[in-house]
Amino acid sequence: MDIGSLTVEILSEGHFELFRDGHINRTPRTAHATSTPKDPGNSNSVMAGINPVLVQSDEHNILLDTGLGWGLDAGSHNIDVSNVCTNLQIFGLQPEDITHVILTHLHYDHAAGSSFTDADAKTQPTFPNATYYVHQKEWDFALDQINRDQLSYSERYRLDEFYRLVSNNQITFLSGDITEIINGITVVRTGGHTPGHQIVIIESDGEKAYYMGDLLPTEYQLNEYVMEKADIYPLEAKKKKVQLLKQACNEKALLLFYHSGNGQAGHLFRDNDKKYVLAKQLPL
Ligand SMILES: [Zn+2]
Repeated sequence: MDIGSLTVEILSEGHFELFRDGHINRTPRTAHATSTPKDPGNSNSVMAGINPVLVQSDEHNILLDTGLGWGLDAGSHNIDVSNVCTNLQIFGLQPEDITHVILTHLHYDHAAGSSFTDADAKTQPTFPNATYYVHQKEWDFALDQINRDQLSYSERYRLDEFYRLVSNNQITFLSGDITEIINGITVVRTGGHTPGHQIVIIESDGEKAYYMGDLLPTEYQLNEYVMEKADIYPLEAKKKKVQLLKQACNEKALLLFYHSGNGQAGHLFRDNDKKYVLAKQLPL
């Protein structure tokens, strides 16, 4: 897909069942197709795709979230799995070619592919030449988990790998609410899902796309809010979602869904009942 002069590719690690206690099963595509992801906030597990996004300009290769990264570690038992690196190969890219990594937040399913363990059991950045972007509020909140006793699923972070990236000076912590990373790629802090959750707006030659992270994980949540249990600040998340969807609809923007089961993306419209619907292509 093109957004002006930028190319946008939806990558896919496959389909997973994500459990509230943190464990994850890989599921075949058919299992997902028959499930109804109606109420991810209340069930014990949720079926989800994992779809990081690659944005390419003439000079830059930008990754939006890095997925689970299964199979990246040296000696990993996960063979024959898709991860962000096997996905990049399809586009003729090596991990070294990635210039920017923007993490919507630091939950495991969005950020674990940021690093791997090498043959000497050392943590290494998966993308050695990239600058990683994380919101300062996200980092502070994640670090603060040691001060809280009863952690909900959304308050749990696995940070060990990130200390290495921080000590390598590879992470830029963003502090403002809106930051342009490079021309046409803007990060907007939304909070809601987590305190430092941020989305990415891609804009080029009058065309726009919104990558909403966990503020809008799948197309099923366009007209419903079912994330009460998953969002740390549900009211804030709901408000931001409404506001951004309105904005994206007015702009006839393309929406990209990280947890969609089939890599769904589409331009946003309202039907006669004022419900949001996706059109795969802009009508002429
Ligand atoms: Zn999350």
